[in-house]
Amino acid sequence: MPPISRQIAFGYSTQCNIKCDHCVAADELSQNVKMEFNTAKAIIEEMARYDVTGISFTAGEPLLFFNDIRNLIQLCKQNGIYSRIVTNGYWAKTQEHSDNIVSELMLSGLAQLRISFSRWHQKHIHQGNIVNAASSCQKYGLDYFISFVTDFSGHDDSLEQFLRDNKLKFFPEPMMYFGRAGGFDRPRIFTDYHPNMCSMNAYLSPDLDMFACCDAGNRFTKTSFLFLGNLKDQSIDALFQKKEKNMLFYLIRTMGLTNIASYLGFKSSEIVKYRKCELCEKLFNSVENLSILEKSAKSGLINWRR
Ligand code: SF4
Ligand code: SF4
Repeated sequence: MPPISRQIAFGYSTQCNIKCDHCVAADELSQNVKMEFNTAKAIIEEMARYDVTGISFTAGEPLLFFNDIRNLIQLCKQNGIYSRIVTNGYWAKTQEHSDNIVSELMLSGLAQLRISFSRWHQKHIHQGNIVNAASSCQKYGLDYFISFVTDFSGHDDSLEQFLRDNKLKFFPEPMMYFGRAGGFDRPRIFTDYHPNMCSMNAYLSPDLDMFACCDAGNRFTKTSFLFLGNLKDQSIDALFQKKEKNMLFYLIRTMGLTNIASYLGFKSSEIVKYRKCELCEKLFNSVENLSILEKSAKSGLINWRR
């Protein structure tokens, strides 16, 4: 398998200052776990030794721990690691305050700010905060983008228009039907038969569990398919290697979930009804399916290509 770059979503704390109705991390947030600062430092230094090139501080609201995160960003910078913070923008109530925060992060060496925006976030965070945060990034030359979480229903059209009217750089992100959103109605989506490949960015939780994917890592409870292990028991390098050597993860990245589902016998008329992560769950959160796929990964499945 060709080498892949090592990047990780770093969950420093599950604490958040708001409670979005759609939050995928809702179960973790209720426990309010936080990593020890010195542990986080040691992990980042170890990550640097084992070729981790990018860290995204996420899970809960990272900037609730501003001083700690700023120091960890500095450490990333010193070790040549690209750093990103994912934030809900609560701190950008005024332009002045927003400028102060962004300029400090910039000085610390932050590479990118990812600002969350959705009809669920914006029940708690004023839309003006998002404009302030983006303006500060533009002013200080900090790369940013807005992660526009949507269920692709017409309900979000006015929010999207708001982003366009304010000339903000945004990318729509599909809402994930896990956590609090698990029971939401799923509007029909219109799409064709696309491959559903997934880059699978790893995730480290504050209690040091590492998962092969940051979005639904701990949600596949029937099989624990995405769970790699805990850093108290294994090294960062060993856990990354587990991810890199897993043939099914490799096939998810390169072949895509659609071909895997088709190989397994899913009808094409069924496959097109699923969103990517739902399809992933159908395939890999089933003991029976996983057992078939694991057995065939290196023989039949890998040849199920055009
Ligand atoms: S801001 Fe993010 S972590 Fe906090 S409740 Fe909303 S979706 Fe969850
Ligand atoms: S498709 Fe699977 S591996 Fe990728 S983000 Fe969704 S649940 Fe995770």
